Parts: sequence; C-alpha cells; structure tokens
Amino acid sequence: KIIRINSSHKNYEVLFIDDIYKLFKDLINEGRFLVIDSKIYTIYFKEYIDSTLIDKQVFLIDAEEQNKNIESSQQLIQSLVANGVKRSSKIIAIGGGITQDIVCFTASILFRGISWIFIPTTLLAQADSCIGGKSSINFKNVKNLIGTFYPPDKIYIDLIFLNSLTADDIKSGIGEIYHYYLYSASRLIQDFHLKRDQFFSNRSLLLPFIYESLSIKKKVIEIDEFDRGERRKFNYGHTFGHAIETLTNYQINHGQAVSIGMDLANFLSYKLRILSKEDYLSMKTFLKLNFPNFQFSDFQIDAYCQLLQKDKKNVNANLTCILSRGVGKLEVYEMELNHENQSLISEYFSTE
Ligand code: NAD
Ligand code: ZN
Repeated sequence: KIIRINSSHKNYEVLFIDDIYKLFKDLINEGRFLVIDSKIYTIYFKEYIDSTLIDKQVFLIDAEEQNKNIESSQQLIQSLVANGVKRSSKIIAIGGGITQDIVCFTASILFRGISWIFIPTTLLAQADSCIGGKSSINFKNVKNLIGTFYPPDKIYIDLIFLNSLTADDIKSGIGEIYHYYLYSASRLIQDFHLKRDQFFSNRSLLLPFIYESLSIKKKVIEIDEFDRGERRKFNYGHTFGHAIETLTNYQINHGQAVSIGMDLANFLSYKLRILSKEDYLSMKTFLKLNFPNFQFSDFQIDAYCQLLQKDKKNVNANLTCILSRGVGKLEVYEMELNHENQSLISEYFSTE
C-alpha cells in the first residue's frame, strides 16, 4: 500500500512495509546517517548495529519533550558535520514525533535543506505526524514556538514498532486518529468504536485505520499545505489540548490531551447551542475512554485560561478555536475569553 502526497516543496510517499530489518541493513550498508530514538535502538536494533558506528554513522536521541529544542538540533549538526555530512547526504530518522521534529528541523536548515527519510515508530507518528511536513521545536518552555515546513523524501511504516508501545501511547494515537474521523465523518467510525478494545492486544488491527487517517490528512494538506484555511480545522481539540499538556508539564501525552480538548470543544459547542446534547454525549462516550485517569479536580482553571489567551493562533484578544456542529461539521470560531466563557470552561472541568 502506498500513499502519495503532492507538496509544493516536493512530492513524497508513504510506503507500508513488513520487513524493517532488511531496509535497515540496506541503509546501514549504504552508509546513511541514522538518527534513532534511543529506546527504539535498544529494543529493535542494538544487535544489528556494530557498536563502533555509534556517534559516527548512528546517532541516538533521548525522546523527551525537554530535549526537543535548538540545542539538540545544534548538537546533531555538530555530530553530522564532524562525520562528513554533505549536501548530497540523506538522514534517516527512526522514532516518534520528537525524533521527527528534531531531525526534520535539522534537515531543513543544514545546507539550507538536506534530504531525509522518516521511519515512524509510535501510533501517533504513523497515523498523523509523519505527513504534513511540519517541524516544531520548543523554545524557552514555549511548546512548538519555532519550526519549518520540510517533508521527508519517503516514509516507511512498519507496524512491528507498535508492539512495544504502552497502553497510554496507543490511547494517544487513538485520540489523534479519532480527531481525523470526527473531522471527516469517516465511514470507519463505527468499526473503530467496535474494535477499540482489541487494538491493545492485537496492534496489527490498526493498519486500515492508520491508512484511513493518513488519507484524510493527505486530502487536506494537499489543498492547504500551509495552514491558512481548511487545515486549521485539524486544530480541533489541539488549542485546548496543548494548554493541558503545558499545564501538566507533559504528564499527559499529546493524543490524550487532544481527546480532552475535543471533549471540551464539544461541551462549549453544546453550551453555545450549536451542537445537540445527544451528539455531545455520543462523542463523549468514546472520547472519555482515552483519559480515564485524568485528575479534573486538581486542574487550575485560571492558569489554564491564561495559557489559552497566549495561544499563538489567536487574533486580537479572542481565542481562535475549532467548535463542532456534529460529526464531520467542524468550524473555526473566534471565542471571546470573557467572564461567561471562562465560566463555561470552569464548569467543564468541575463537572467532569
Ligand atoms: P515521542 O517521540 O514523544 O516518544 C514518546 C516516548 O515513546 C518516548 O519515550 C520514546 O522513546 C518512546 N517510543 C517511541 N517509539 C516507541 C516504540 N515503538 N516502543 C516503545 N517506546 C517508543 O512520541 P510521539 O507521541 O510520536 O510524539 C510526540 C511529539 O510529537 C510531541 O513533541 C508533539 O509536539 C510532536 N508532534 C509533531 C507533529 C508534527 O507534525 N511535526 C504532529 C504531532 C505531534
Ligand atoms: Zn496532534
């Protein structure tokens, strides 16, 4: 199975494979530079790499949010340059969204752009972030403040990697996939609901759902690559979710925070009378499964609203967010963060 993406930068493709070790051996033998998530290295590749190649041809990244910064990129550039990287070299990134962001950013600025290939290892990266070409780097505690658009040449997806993910990582990916389905009213929604429990024990069942999620995203990024129109609707759950991630110091992962964010967006849509109670509750039934342990009672609403106010997508004093009129009916909404609306946000967190 292949998904081809047209982009103004270059066209690229996603290939679904099931023989990662063959590909890996070829890449090593071709002398490619590899940047690998250190956990992935330990679990999957340690015995396949001559240890003398570490820090020469193979570089390891500790995938932690605190490391997704300019310093990591600078260090990577230093290592690559010290080992003879050229304008014509290719860098291979193997890992989740953090590895992707660091390598994508680095590849986009080194020699004003050097080609790279991505092998995503988390459900979130396979079903969402691997396409779209964005890199996002944190700066002085502000998440994703710096970034570039710079797609890889190729993406290889092998579901083997999903086997070592925690249940929370799977929930994170489920949240992100569901967000695409709620955007597009995908015909797979019912099946996704039905199979949800089985994903945790049989991860290969996720294949058609990953394919669908990427296909939905592909259609939109091809018409709005740079986030100026339709693609902004993908921020559904994200504006509210990012602020939860930041406030909890990333104790909650991205897709789980986005699930709460979508539920909050739906709650506000219902309170603002654009979404029926029935639709709100029916989406909630599924969304809630993604954040069973979130401590709503400890949540600091004031600090939360202040964070929302600072969101980079805001215009004037309003909060630019995505609300829902139902499945497949999202809209960009300018919400005043006045007393009334802050009370509604407060109500959401206190009644959960
Ligand atoms: P991650 O890269 O943050 O990794 C999470 C943890 O899982 C790490 O400890 C990592 O070592 C580990 N891990 C990775 N793959 C594994 C596997 N197969 N088995 C076991 N452990 C594994 O994971 P993520 O959730 O994919 O990425 C989140 C990051 O991606 C955030 O920083 C977010 O901002 C970013 N993101 C970027 C985009 C984009 O378009 N550039 C989109 C969405 C999210
Ligand atoms: Zn996301």
